[in-house]
Amino acid sequence: MLIKAVILFLLVMAAIGMVGKALFPGALGRAVKKRVPLAKSVPCPKCGKYQIGKSGCDCGGK
Ligand SMILES: [Zn+2]
Repeated sequence: MLIKAVILFLLVMAAIGMVGKALFPGALGRAVKKRVPLAKSVPCPKCGKYQIGKSGCDCGGK
């Protein structure tokens, strides 16, 4: 009886996990991808603004 309850509990947890993955596909991956560019970009030494690309900061400070 107790073993049946444990198996049922595990099945319910697995079902919840699958439903969560179906509802939010790649939600975790998206959150990680959002942080990667910010971490790689270097802030402007002059104004402290994060630069986008290699063209440099739009404040023109060097
Ligand atoms: Zn700047």
